[in-house]
Amino acid sequence: MFITFEGIDASGKSTQIKLLEQYLIEQNFKVIVVREPGGTKLSEEIRNILLSKENFSMVKECEIFLFSASRAQLVREVIIPKLKEGFIVLSDRFHDSTTAYQGTGRDIKLEDVFVIHRIAIDDCIPDLTFFLDIPFEESIRRKKLIELSPDRIESMGKEFFDRVREGYLQIQKREPDRFKIINGVGSPSEIHKQIVQIFNDKLITLRGLR
Ligand code: ADP
Repeated sequence: MFITFEGIDASGKSTQIKLLEQYLIEQNFKVIVVREPGGTKLSEEIRNILLSKENFSMVKECEIFLFSASRAQLVREVIIPKLKEGFIVLSDRFHDSTTAYQGTGRDIKLEDVFVIHRIAIDDCIPDLTFFLDIPFEESIRRKKLIELSPDRIESMGKEFFDRVREGYLQIQKREPDRFKIINGVGSPSEIHKQIVQIFNDKLITLRGLR
């Protein structure tokens, strides 16, 4: 099974990925965690270019191809081989981030975004996606607590993040079976419980199909 986590920065993606990874290992599943952009040597090099504050002049068209290039490599070098070996793959961000950030957020036409997705990931579409929904203000509050300085993309303002959130909500309308909205405000263990419940429901559905 291929599972992705989405949401704005500090929405709790890595926290929930760690909890789900632990749970799956306890259930005797083979699990691998990857992050986007990155996850391969080449993709990590692209990540550095994408997140570097020196690259403030990067145009959105360049940005979407770099994210997608990184993803194309990750899919073929890691995700597909691991899925074939029977691993559950957990990814911190995937193609929905591009739809929400570069598509709805930066206003690249969605029909063009979908063409780029097709080239980058082909039919490697997640079985399940958890969108951890938190308000922009909560993201700022959490980042202040851990004194995290924003990278190039995180430095965009509230208006941008409102569009990104709207982009995520639209994905849920198009693909409700795959894309699950989780309220990201609450205790990590409560959120984890909801994620496990949805995971187990999906497992039953997929086992019924195979
Ligand atoms: P992301 O991977 O989405 O950027 P993280 O999991 O790294 O988010 O969490 C960002 C910060 O918020 C961390 O300091 C983490 O401990 C904290 N955090 C995570 N989940 C919650 C939660 N449910 N409630 C409050 N704080 C949280």
